[in-house]
Parts: sequence; structure tokens; C-alpha cells
Amino acid sequence: MTSATLTIDTGAIARNWQSLDARTEVETGAVVKANGYGLGAPVVARVLARAGCRSFFVATAEEGATLRAALGQGPVIYVFSGHMDGDTGAIREGRLTPLLNSVDQMLRHVEALPGSPFGLQMNTGMNRLGMQASEWSALRDIAVAQRPALIMSHLACADEPDHEMNARQLNTFREMTDGIDAPRSLAATGGTLLGEAYHFDLCRPGVGLFGGLPFAEAEAVVTLDAPVIQVRDVAAGESVGYGNMWIAQRPSRIATISAGYADGLIRAMGNGIGAHVYADDTALPIVGRVSMDLITVDVTDLGHDPANLQLLGAHQTVDDLATAAGTIGYEVLTSLGHRYARRYTE
Ligand SMILES: *Cc1c(COP(=O)(O)O)cnc(C)c1O
Repeated sequence: MTSATLTIDTGAIARNWQSLDARTEVETGAVVKANGYGLGAPVVARVLARAGCRSFFVATAEEGATLRAALGQGPVIYVFSGHMDGDTGAIREGRLTPLLNSVDQMLRHVEALPGSPFGLQMNTGMNRLGMQASEWSALRDIAVAQRPALIMSHLACADEPDHEMNARQLNTFREMTDGIDAPRSLAATGGTLLGEAYHFDLCRPGVGLFGGLPFAEAEAVVTLDAPVIQVRDVAAGESVGYGNMWIAQRPSRIATISAGYADGLIRAMGNGIGAHVYADDTALPIVGRVSMDLITVDVTDLGHDPANLQLLGAHQTVDDLATAAGTIGYEVLTSLGHRYARRYTE
């Protein structure tokens, strides 16, 4: 088989959820937007539902419709983008719970789907989504009378526990919502780890379920193995790849693997920036530029020609690879491509 294999350990996803759930006294939901952080929302969500998760979060109503088909009627599915123009059919048919972000969305929702469930999103300082304090004070009594399923906000700096923004947003969230008779949620993965003050009634981790920072104790979830297509000898002074970006300093053995930037292995991972691939326990440098479908690796020090090389796994986490490429684990995960053979294990 020519395509690389992405192995997704669904048991590890369930255990990461349980382990975050065990850190709080409150309900733990799961964020499975962007196709479950690239790992396949239907499979991931079914695994989490089996582990006991009852509240799921997605970015858009379209994602919510897909998720409803995978999960059946039981779980609650919240939509962060709220109720957009054109979403009414998907919300009704998918029995989705939009997290309304503005007075306009509130009006649209109660006019289009009177009596159907909704939550409310507050802007506590991130200035991305949610109602302003002024807007909220005008709407608050009317909205609360309709019994929101959840009132939530999102932290901008929760991956930095000492950042003063965390306490500032916590205070703002309390000022906007204290005394209201509705369940509240502030914490994603980072906020879950900040401690009890941030937990309210429901935590909603995403990346930590999939083995990413800031949940440092997470179990690794993904393994990525690419087959070697060809191995060749390169003489000292010869170059490898586009732009002649790598020149052999010694007689070298170069393996070409079947994966590239079209598979989410971004071009910034190329040529000597510290990203490696692994042959069992041996780290081998990526040399030359990453191309669309191929990556070249210096296997000289291995002493034999490997059949496969590993890009993600026990030796190199999603965050290790992200750091080497100047990005974050979230981006590496959600970029993992469509060409991989996806294999789900327990
Ligand atoms: C993506 C997202 C989450 C999950 O964040 P993680 O850092 O992946 O745990 C939670 N809430 C909102 C509003 C989000 O956009």
C-alpha cells in the first residue's frame, strides 16, 4: 500500500476523557469540531458517548448534523457559531442546541424555532464570539425566562496558567452570570486544568482528548507510519529535493517516503529544522524540502533500509512535530490529510 497509515487509538481517547473527567466534580463534555480534530468526528464521538459523554460541541450546524447522524437522539449537541442565517433546517432536523452569540441570533432563534433549546455565549474578553456585557444586560431577563440549556464563555490564555487574563475573564464571567439559574461552562482543556474555580457546571475539553497540550499527561492517540518508496545512495556534494536545499556532506543513504504537505506534513517541517522520523527507536533527520507527496530522510546511520518510517507516535508527539515546524499541536492534528488510510484501534 502506498498511502501512509494513520492509526487512531480510540481507547486512549476514552481514557483521556475519563482522566479529565476525574479531575473535576462536574460534567465533562467533548469538543469534536473540525471532524473531531481531524481524527473522524463520527467514530470519536461514538467512542466518547460509550465512555459516558452526554454533551458534544461542534463549530457549525453542518458539523452538528453529521454528528447527530452518528450519535442518534440521546446526546446534546451544542453549536458554537450559534444560529446563523440558513441554519434553521439543520438545527431543527439535527435537534441541535445553538450557543447564541448576539441579540440578532436570539431573535432569529426564537422566531424560527420557538421553544427549541438554545444556549448563550458571552464575550468575557477574547473578543471572538459571544454577547457583550451591555447587550447581555438588556437581554438577560428575557433570555433567562426561556431557560437556556447552558451559558458559556471561552478563555484566551488558559494554556498559560499564570496569565492574568485567566482571572480577569473568570471575574467577568461571574459578573455576567452569577445568580442566574442555568448551567454554566467556561473551561476547555486548559481551563479544566486551572482548577475548580474554572469548572462551573460543565467542562468542554477538545485537544486534551486527542493527546495534545496543554494536557501534558494525556495518552498519545495518533501514530503515523509512511511506507518507504525508494532508497538510494547519494554521493558527497550531491543535493536532495527542490531548490537543492540539502547537500550531502558525506556519502549518504536517502529514503523517500509516501507523505507530504498535501497530507498535512507542512513544508516548514523540511530541511533541518529539527523534525525527525523514526525507524523503531532511531531518530532520522528529514532532509531537503517537504514536497506535496514525498519526504526525503537521511537513513545513513540506520545501517539498513527501512520498509516504513514513523512520523508520529511514541517517540514524536503531535506537539513535538508542531514545535519543530513552528506551529501548535492543534494545527498538526487538524491538518492530517485525507489520503491516509485511517485505522482505528482499541
Ligand atoms: C475549540 C474550543 C474548545 C476546545 O478547546 P481545547 O483547547 O481544544 O480544549 C472549547 N470551547 C470553545 C469555544 C472552542 O472554540
